[in-house]
Order: sequence, then structure tokens, then C-alpha cells
Amino acid sequence: MGDQIINTRDQQFVLYEQLGIEKLFKKKYADYTRETVDMMLNEAEKMAVDVILPTSEAGDREGCKFKDGNVTVPECFHEAYKKFVEGGWNCAMRDPDFGGQSMPLSVSNACFEFFNAANVPFIMYPMLTNGAAGLIEIFGTEEQKKKYMSKMYSGEWGGTMCLTEPGAGSDVGALKTSARRLPDGRFSITGTKIFISCGDHDLTPNIIHPVLARIEGDPAGTRGISIFLVPKYRVNDDGSPGEFNDVRTGNIEHKMGIRGSATCTLNFGDDGNCIGELLGKERQGMMIMFHMMNEARLEVGMQGLSLASIAYQKSVAYARDRIQGTAIWDMKNPDAKSVSILQHPDIRRMLLWMKSHVEGIRALNYYASFCMDSALVADTPEEKQKWQGLVELLIPVCKAYSSDKGFQVCSRAIEVFGGYGYCSEYPVEQYLRDCKIASIYEGTNGIQALDLVGRKLGQNRGANVKTLIGEINRSLAQARKYPELKPWLAYLEEALQSLSQLTLHFGQLGKSASFLIPVLNATPYLELLGDVVCGWLLFDAAALSAGKLEAVYRERGIEDSRANQRALVHENGDVAFYNGKIATAKFFASTVLSTVKARCDSIRFGDRTPLEIADESFGV
Ligand SMILES: Cc1cc2nc3c(=O)[nH]c(=O)nc-3n(C[C@H](O)[C@H](O)[C@H](O)COP(=O)(O)OP(=O)(O)OC[C@H]3O[C@@H](n4cnc5c(N)ncnc54)[C@H](O)[C@@H]3O)c2cc1C
Repeated sequence: MGDQIINTRDQQFVLYEQLGIEKLFKKKYADYTRETVDMMLNEAEKMAVDVILPTSEAGDREGCKFKDGNVTVPECFHEAYKKFVEGGWNCAMRDPDFGGQSMPLSVSNACFEFFNAANVPFIMYPMLTNGAAGLIEIFGTEEQKKKYMSKMYSGEWGGTMCLTEPGAGSDVGALKTSARRLPDGRFSITGTKIFISCGDHDLTPNIIHPVLARIEGDPAGTRGISIFLVPKYRVNDDGSPGEFNDVRTGNIEHKMGIRGSATCTLNFGDDGNCIGELLGKERQGMMIMFHMMNEARLEVGMQGLSLASIAYQKSVAYARDRIQGTAIWDMKNPDAKSVSILQHPDIRRMLLWMKSHVEGIRALNYYASFCMDSALVADTPEEKQKWQGLVELLIPVCKAYSSDKGFQVCSRAIEVFGGYGYCSEYPVEQYLRDCKIASIYEGTNGIQALDLVGRKLGQNRGANVKTLIGEINRSLAQARKYPELKPWLAYLEEALQSLSQLTLHFGQLGKSASFLIPVLNATPYLELLGDVVCGWLLFDAAALSAGKLEAVYRERGIEDSRANQRALVHENGDVAFYNGKIATAKFFASTVLSTVKARCDSIRFGDRTPLEIADESFGV
């Protein structure tokens, strides 16, 4: 296991045993079989381990450089990028007409767990390009598709997403970048965008920027925003990059993490010579951006998961190897041999905390991907609405909960490594630094929580929440069949009940003068929902595992012998794995789910202190 960058046994379990992704192999995905998926996962793991992983530490050390107005990426990224693109990974999810393989999102995200674990900042270049090209695929004219999209999907050119400005971060509607109509129907773009990931680099000869801007005279706020395609170099008739389009890089940021990903300030039209083409219709900028939002937010959730994944793998391997101290039961024995730190209860507790969160957020993100795919291949409108409703509800949780828990898992990894973990000789401190950004970009986690509480809970008149509760109750009924799970399952039952009541309470407050209570508690609410959804998926897995174990014991005729069952853990990998799934759910229940009721009660208490404390009393 120490050599694996993610736990592939758990990945296979979630995809096939828990979700049953074979159900998706119809309509658009009719050509897929388990064999093709296994082959793709295999190839993805090889690409991640052999090609991308070696660029991780070097990329972090070297970082991006800014000289004479140009940005260069770490040297080792060039060869890896070439191989990644040649391998067809750049647009594997897209349709074959565009060079892709129509890969289900469930499969593509499973592949991206490998890629992200290997090196998040590297993978941001193709990821952003793919997202930008996806917008052109849906909203572009045939000419724009021909001119830009094909070259982006193939990885020949890069792409970005340009929203943020110095005065417009979370409040995108405050943007100042402007677009002036030109007689030929195109627009002259002027303004400054900051923090633009992959905004400039030397991996590709051209970069296409979708830029949010306001056409002169259009209304203030998000209503007046349009989106434009702004290439770094204009495109010649033969498709090659031509004249410079007056997009200048002002600087790059010096950052805590993702140092191989160039975060740029871009100045559009300093010389009044930056031309943009409208994408879609005027004032549809936000609607167009929203179209890619679910996919993009899930991608960020996947970053949190992937870094947590590799941090956990490294921690278990380290804990097995690191010899330090004697076993607690040998404390008074002066001749006791030193043991590996894996034998210390505190380390075992931390590792199980990490394992339960990694497996919880893997199940969560894979489930959300599965819901997205299911909506695409649904047979009836009702079915489609059910899956899409779950997507809408779960996306802010995937993004915010996975990035927060991912960061906490990386922090525990450093703890497991002790002083070595804090030093750059081992990679876990880099994982922590690389992970932090996931809670900030693509809409901060605070904004995700407001989206959840302010919009998503009430969507479809609360039907999405009811669907989710229905799915959880179905799994609970299954899990109740296994008496050994019962004491722990009670925590999930209690947590679900408390959270359901809190959700109803929020619904009532939302319509009253106390609506600020849900707003104030949006972030803790999102965490509670994340805990309950992960707890549900972990128990769903535990019940499945209990069933599998029963079958193995029956087959071997050891149903009644606990001693023989315990002995089997040491010789049979599947038995060890399924036992691990049960232990994981139990631990999550007793340490996390057990606190849900108290946290719900504390929110219902209705404390308004943060709202009422005077600004001056903050003390600075
Ligand atoms: C490394 C990096 C890469 C990035 N890549 C890109 C990119 O490729 N493209 C792009 O367009 N942007 C990018 N960003 C920008 C990123 O999306 C913004 O930083 C983010 O949206 C927050 O905006 P801000 O930094 O202005 O913070 P602010 O909006 O000032 O927020 C500061 C704090 O206030 C909170 N807050 C703000 N408004 C509210 C509110 N109404 N209610 C409650 N809380 C609120 C926030 O949650 C946050 O905690 C990147 C940023 C970084 C650091």
C-alpha cells in the first residue's frame, strides 16, 4: 500500500460494489464495459505515477518564473504535459467528435483522483483549458468552435477563467472590466483581472481567456455581465497564432502552495488594442459561467480528496516504518523493544480519523459524479430531476467539505510524521500547502455555504432534501440487518433526525425576521450535512462489507467461530479490507456523528452574539 498514491482497492469498491457504475453504461455511455474502465484506471494510474508524480516536488521547488513580461512553468512540466496530452487525457470526458472518449464523469473523476494526487498544480493547466473549451462547445458559434475549441481540447492551446478583479472577488457583480462595441461586431476589452490561474505560461503557444466584462451602458451587478473570448494572440486565417492581442501579464503571485501553477495578474487592453468576441448572447455571462460551475466545483472537491488520499497513503507507510518508543503495555519493561509508531494508540486514532474522512469524501465526490452521469442517461424526466436535484444539493458540500476535510487530513499527516513532516524532506507539508487553496478559489467555502443554505435547501420546494433523506433511509434499512453495526448506527439515526429538524427550522426562520440565524450558521450547517452524508455513505459501505464477510465465512464454514474469522484477516486481503470498512464507519459514528445532535442543538439555541457584538469590541 505504501507505493500506491491512492487506495485503489477502495476506489474499486466505491465504483463497482457501492455505486455499481455499470448501471450507467447505456445511451451516451453504451460503449463502456467494466473492462474498458479498468483499463482506463490502469492507464491513469501509470500516467500519474510514472509521468506526473516526478514533477511534484521539483515543480514546487522551482515554481513559476516571471521575466520580461513572460511566465515560464517549472522545466519538468513540459515533457509531462506533452505526454499527458498525447495520452488523450486532456479531453477524455468530451465527445469523440471533439477528440474525446465520452468518458463518464464517474470514471473521469476516478482518473483525476490519481492525477491530482500526483500533482495538483500541474493538472490545473489541462483542467482549466478543458473547462474553458467546454464553454465554447456549449455556447460558441461554429466559427469559434473551429477556431478555438478544437485546439484547446487537443491541448495545443491553453485556457483560463477570468472572473476576479481587485475590487471584485466574491462579489463578481462589482467587476469593472469593460467591453466597447466595435463596428465589426467584436469588442474592445479594457480592464485588469487578478489571481488568474494558468493566466500565462510557456506550455502552449496561445492561451484563450474567457473574460467576464460589462458592455458599456449595460446595467450594474451580475445582470449586466457578458462573457468574451479573448485570445493572447489573435488567430490567423490558417489557424495559427498571429498578432499579439494586447493581453499583458502584470505579475505572478508568490504563494503558499500550488507553486507550479502560475497565478497571474492580466491587463487587458493597456494599449487599447485588445479584441474580444462575445460568447453566447449579451448579458448572459453569469448564466454561461454557471453552466460549468457544478463541474468546476466538483473538480475542486476532488483536489481536496486527492491530496488527502495521498497524504493518508504516505502516513500509513511512514507509521509502519518509523520505530519510536515502546508499546504502552510494555512501558515498565526496561528491556522492551522499540515498536513502530503504528502501535501507539494516538497514531492509530489519527490514522483512522484520516481514513474515515478520506473514504467519506471519496464516496461523496464519486457519488456526486455518479448522480451527474445518472441525470445524463436517465430514462424518464422524473428520474432525471431526482439525480439533478441531488447534484444541485451536494455540489457545495463536495467543494467545501472535501477541501476543508482534505486540508485537515493533510495537517494530521504532518502530525503523524512528527518533525519530519514539517520539513520539506518529506512531501506532506507540500500537500498541506497545495490543499489550502481549494477552500478559497471557485467561490470560497463561506460562499458555498451561503449557496447551500440560501438557495439549495429550498430548491424544488425542498424536494431535493427529501430525496436525499429517502436515499439515506434506504441504506439505514439495509444496515439495520447487521446487529453488529447497531450501536454505532444509532448515531447516524440520531444525526439524521437532528439535521432534518434543523433543516425544517431553517426553512421556518428563512421566512421570518430571524433569517440571519441560518445565514450566520451556514458554514457549520454545511459541515453537518457533510458529516451526515459521509456517515451515510460509510454505513452503506459497512453494510455491504458485512454482507460480503458473511458470505466468505459461510463459504469457509466459519460463521460461528470468531477466532477463525479474526485469523482470516491476516491472510485474506478482501477480508482485511471489508473489516476495515466496518471499522471506519464505526469510528466515524462514535467520533463525528456522535457530535451532530449537540451541534444542531447549539445552532437552534439561536445565539446572535457574532451579529450583535459591536465592531469596536473585536478589539483591533
Ligand atoms: C491561487 C489562486 C488562484 C485563483 N484562480 C482564479 C482563476 O483562475 N480565475 C479567477 O477568476 N479567480 C481566481 N482566483 C480568485 C478566487 O476565486 C478569489 O480569491 C475568491 O473568489 C475570493 O475572492 P477575494 O480573494 O477577493 O476575497 P473576498 O471576496 O474579499 O473574501 C474575503 C472573505 O470574505 C468572505 N466574504 C466575501 N463576501 C461575503 C459575503 N457576501 N458573505 C459572507 N462572506 C463573504 C469570503 O468568504 C472570504 O472569507 C484565484 C485565487 C487564488 C488565490
